[in-house]
Amino acid sequence: MRQRDKGAGRDLSYPPLPDPLGVPVYDNHTHLEIGDGDQSLTVAEQLDRASSVGVRGVIQVGGDLETSRWSAAMAAREPRMLAAVAIHPNEAPVYDAAGTLDDALAEIAELATRPRVVAIGETGLDFFRTGPDGHASQLRSFEAHIEIAKRNGLALQIHDRDAHSAVIETLLRVGAPERTVFHCFSGDAEMARILADNGWYLSFAGTVTFKNAQNLREALAAVPRALLLVETDAPFLTPAPFRGRPNAPYLLPHTLRAMADHLETDVSILATQISSNTELVYGRWDTEPVTVAETTEPGTRPFGGLA
Ligand SMILES: [Zn+2]
Repeated sequence: MRQRDKGAGRDLSYPPLPDPLGVPVYDNHTHLEIGDGDQSLTVAEQLDRASSVGVRGVIQVGGDLETSRWSAAMAAREPRMLAAVAIHPNEAPVYDAAGTLDDALAEIAELATRPRVVAIGETGLDFFRTGPDGHASQLRSFEAHIEIAKRNGLALQIHDRDAHSAVIETLLRVGAPERTVFHCFSGDAEMARILADNGWYLSFAGTVTFKNAQNLREALAAVPRALLLVETDAPFLTPAPFRGRPNAPYLLPHTLRAMADHLETDVSILATQISSNTELVYGRWDTEPVTVAETTEPGTRPFGGLA
C-alpha cells in the first residue's frame, strides 16, 4: 500500500464521524489506495464509514498503470465504487523518459472499456511539480486522454495545477468531452465563469473550507449550481476544522456544509442538486451488475497487501 507522507508533527489520527447528511451525496474523486493515518482502513471500512454519514458512493481515481488497474478491478466488484483511470500529469514525463508512455496510454485505453470505469482521470497539466522539461510529455498525454474519453463516451477528470490557461486552451483546441470535470477546482471566479460558459463542471474539495480560500468561495458562488460537484481527494486536502489530519470519504459532509453555508442554502437542497449532477456526469452507481474481475484479485486491502 502506498502511504501519504507522514510529515513531521502531523496529527495522524482520523477525525471523528460528522453528523450524517439528510440527503446523500457522492465523493467523485478519492484515492483509497493511498494509506494514511495511525490506523489503516480497508476499502470496505472506508466505504462503511462513508455510507454511515450519507456519502453513498465514491469514484476511485488512478494515477498510473498500477493504480488504474486496481481502481478498475475494485470498482468491478464493489457496488459503492466506480473508477477513473489515467496516467497523472506528473507521471507522464516519467513514462515518457522510460520510453513507455505509448504503451501506458494503450493500456489506459483498454481499461477505459471495462465495466464501471466511468471516467478518464486524473489527467491534465501540472506546471507546479513538473518543470518545463516535462510539459511536452504532459501535453501529449493529456491530449491522448481527452481522445480516449471522447472515443468511449466517458467523463474527463482534469488535474490542473498552476496551468489554468494551458488546460483551457488545450480543451478548446482539441475539443472537450461532453462531460468535463475540473477536479479540486483551484481557480477564481473569472475562471469559473469561463468553465461555466463551456458547460464544464467544477468539483470542490476541502480546500474550499480553508480560511485563505476566498477565491474558491467566490468561484463557487459564480457558477450555476447545475455544474457543481464535491470530492475529498482523500487522503489529501482534509477539510477544516481537521486540516492536516488524514482525509477520507466520510469527511465529505464538512466540505458540503461549508459550501451550503457560503451559498446561503440548505444543505439538503445542495446535496440533492449535487447528487443529481454527479449521476448526470458519471451515471448511476447501481445500474450495472457487479462483476468479478477476471484478471486481478485485489483483495480488500489496497494492492492485496496487508489484509
Ligand atoms: Zn486526486
